[in-house]
Amino acid sequence: MESFVAYFSDMPTLHRSGLLVGGLALFLLIENAAPLFSLKTYSRVKHTGLNIFFTLTTVIVNFVMAFILVWSADWVVANGFGVMQWMSGMPFVVTLLVGLMVMDFVGAWLAHYIEHHVTWMWKFHAIHHTDQHVDTTTANRHHPGESVIRFVFTTVAVFVAGAPIWMVFLYQSLSLVMSQFNHSNVSMPKWLDDVLVLVVCTPNMHRVHHHYRQPYSDTNYGNIFSFWDRIFQTYVVVDNKKLVYGLDTHMEKSETDNVGFLLKIPFLPYRPHIEYEKEEKL
Ligand SMILES: [Zn+2]
Repeated sequence: MESFVAYFSDMPTLHRSGLLVGGLALFLLIENAAPLFSLKTYSRVKHTGLNIFFTLTTVIVNFVMAFILVWSADWVVANGFGVMQWMSGMPFVVTLLVGLMVMDFVGAWLAHYIEHHVTWMWKFHAIHHTDQHVDTTTANRHHPGESVIRFVFTTVAVFVAGAPIWMVFLYQSLSLVMSQFNHSNVSMPKWLDDVLVLVVCTPNMHRVHHHYRQPYSDTNYGNIFSFWDRIFQTYVVVDNKKLVYGLDTHMEKSETDNVGFLLKIPFLPYRPHIEYEKEEKL
């Protein structure tokens, strides 16, 4: 337990980068071996290149602002503030799980839900949804402005969770790998998915969130744990083969393949969601 805490308290930058690159490589290999949607319908090099660009901007934003998280984690410990700090005397594993749940709820589920319901935040988050070929590289396709928004929510999560720095690094590591996993274009055995989805967000669960139109794009917001969507009744189960990825307000390839245009979306006039006459049943 002590070496576990010691490792994550001082997790080397090299290991953090290794997790990002290693996770990406691993899921790309699995996608190649067992893809759900055919990989032959689009240029993977171009698609990956664009998503890697946005991954790099995400890494830069998080790197530049990291000291704020370190300061916040030190502050909650020094002042005994937040859920984990109020759990002294509880078994370590219970404190760890509760801390992870609070970080995942405030830093990911709630952040994501709010991004879908506050227009100016949605305009930043929309870039993530404009991907018409969702795969593991989509995980970090975030506008740099969205990376800042998410960073702010992660900081709030540190205060609510009372998370020491080891929990912050553990959470960020798990969050990264889970996002790469639940965006991956992998065809997983149903029995395995049925078991995993009881606790965590699987690709089969998250894909519907990337369907091109509402109400399906406003479901399954989760990243690590699947129960937040069940609790807040945003959980749906659909046939993934019927999904159409993208965003109905931004389906033009000339726009969604263009880094310059994607960077400008938050500053252009808001495009309201399209209201369809016929309800869709997936
Ligand atoms: Zn979303």
